[in-house]
Amino acid sequence: MTEAHPASRDFTIPEGCPVCAADLPVRVTASGPSGVCKHCGWLGRPVITVTHRGLSVSYEGARA
Ligand SMILES: [Zn+2]
Repeated sequence: MTEAHPASRDFTIPEGCPVCAADLPVRVTASGPSGVCKHCGWLGRPVITVTHRGLSVSYEGARA
């Protein structure tokens, strides 16, 4: 892996949007992760937790 921009990194959570289940692009910066759905415009902060079953994605601040 090459880290061209160590201050921030982008990734996509498959079907990560809680509103429309579209792929959710997420940008992680020093201030934390933030995601904006390109499909419906949902904005929130995904919280990714590793569990025994794999990655679990939850959200906070979505109703602010
Ligand atoms: Zn969406």
